[in-house]
Amino acid sequence: MQYLEPAPIKDRSNPLESMMSRFDEAVKILDISDEMYQILKVPSRQVIVGLPVTMDNGRIKVFEGYRVIHSTILGPGKGGVRFDPDVTLEEVNALAAWMTWKCAVVDIPFGGAKGGVACNPREMSAGEMERLIRVYTTKMQDIFGPDKDIPAPDMGTGPREMAWLMDEYSKAKGMTTHSVVTGKPLVLGGSKGRVEATGRGVMISAIVAMEKLGIKPELSTIAVQGFGNVGSWAAKLLEDKGCKVVALSDISGAYYNENGISIVDAMEYRDQHNGTLEGFAEAEKIDSDSLLTLDVDVLIPAAKEDVITRHNAHEIKAKLIVEGANGPTSALADEILKEKGIIAVPDILANAGGVTVSYFEWVQNRMGYKWGLDRINRRCERAIKNAFNHVYETSEKHKVTLRTAAYIIAIDKVAMTYKYRGGY
Ligand code: NAD
Repeated sequence: MQYLEPAPIKDRSNPLESMMSRFDEAVKILDISDEMYQILKVPSRQVIVGLPVTMDNGRIKVFEGYRVIHSTILGPGKGGVRFDPDVTLEEVNALAAWMTWKCAVVDIPFGGAKGGVACNPREMSAGEMERLIRVYTTKMQDIFGPDKDIPAPDMGTGPREMAWLMDEYSKAKGMTTHSVVTGKPLVLGGSKGRVEATGRGVMISAIVAMEKLGIKPELSTIAVQGFGNVGSWAAKLLEDKGCKVVALSDISGAYYNENGISIVDAMEYRDQHNGTLEGFAEAEKIDSDSLLTLDVDVLIPAAKEDVITRHNAHEIKAKLIVEGANGPTSALADEILKEKGIIAVPDILANAGGVTVSYFEWVQNRMGYKWGLDRINRRCERAIKNAFNHVYETSEKHKVTLRTAAYIIAIDKVAMTYKYRGGY
C-alpha cells in the first residue's frame, strides 16, 4: 500500500486575509480615516462571466471567468490573467489589490486589476485555449482598454494567449490595438527585456539589499526555490554578479552543490527535459523543503505562495529573503523572521520588475516606437533602486519591516491621490 505524503501545513485560509493583515498593519501607522480604509479595501469592480467553449470532442463546456479591478485611482487597471483550476473570485480579488500596491510602490501610473478563469490549461489543447481566451476577451471587451484596464500573462497564460487576446479585442474595436495588453510576443509589439524583467528586478533588489547588509555578492551563497521564469532569471543574473547559487528547486525536487551550480547548464538542462530539473546530475538531490532552511546568505522563494510559514520560519538561516513569488511568506511567519532579524524584501517590491517593463511595453505601443534593450534595462534598474531606497528609508523612519514600509508607501500614495481627485 502506498502512503501519500501529508500536505504541507499552511498558515492562512485565503490570500485575501493574508493581504488584508499586511494592509491593516500599515494602516495602523498611517493617519487614514475609516472612510478611506473602506474605499481602499473594497474592489472597485468585480466581473463574473460565463464562458462557453466548444471543446475538441465537439461538446460545449462552460467555464467561469473573472476580472477584478481593485482600483483605478492611480491609472488604468493593470494585472495578469490566471488560468488555473484553483482560481476563485476571492483569490482574484486579493491578487488585484496586490497589483494596486505593487504599481504604487514602483511609482508607475497604473491601478490594480487581475483576471482569472477556473480551468486546467495542462489538459487543454492549443485550440481549446485559443477559443477560451477569445471568448473571455469578447466578454471583457468593455472592461479592457488601453486607458481602462490592461491585462497581461499570469500562471497558465503567456505571450501566445496575449496575442490572441490582442487580436480578438482589435477585431471587436475595428482597429489594431497593441496597447490593450502587455506580455505579447516581440513581433506583435512586445517589449525587449520583458521575459527576464521580473528576475532582473529580483536580482537588483537582492544586490541593493546585500549592500545594506554588508554582504559582498562575490562572497555570497544563494538558494532559489522555483526554476521557472522568475527563479531561473534571478539565479542567472545573480550568478552574473558573482554570487554562488548553491541550491535550486522546482516541482521535481531540490538540487544542491556546495561549490555552486552553473545556471546556464541548469537552464539548458531544463529546456531539454520537459521544463524540469529531474535527473540534473551537476548537483545532489536533496529534500525539497530543506532548500528553504539551508545555511545560505540569500533565500529567493520564486515558486508559489505560502511556503515560508510559522512551521518553518524558525529554522530559516538565510540573512536575507528576496520574494520572487507573490505571497511566499505568511503573515505569521513575518513575525518570526522579524524576531530573528532576517530581512525580507517583500514581493510588491522585489518582483515588480515585470510590471515595470510591462509599463514600458505599453508606453512603447502608445508611442508607436521600440526601445533598445539597454534603455529598458537601465530604466528598470532605476525604478527598482529608487523604490527600494524609498522603502528602506520609510522602514528606518517608522522602525518597521520593509514589507510594512512598502505597504505604507503604497497605501499613502493611493489615499493621497484619492483625496486630490476628490472621489467619484
Ligand atoms: P513558472 O510557472 O515559470 O515557474 C514556477 C516554478 O516553480 C517552476 O519551476 C515549478 O516547477 C516550480 N514549482 C512549482 N511548485 C513547486 C514546489 N512545490 N517547490 C519548488 N518549486 C516548485 O512561474 P513564474 O512566472 O516563474 O512565477 C513564479 C512566481 O512568481 C509566482 O508566484 C508568480 O505569481 C510570481 N510572479 C511572476 C511574475 C512574472 O513576470 N512571471 C511577475 C511577478 C510575480
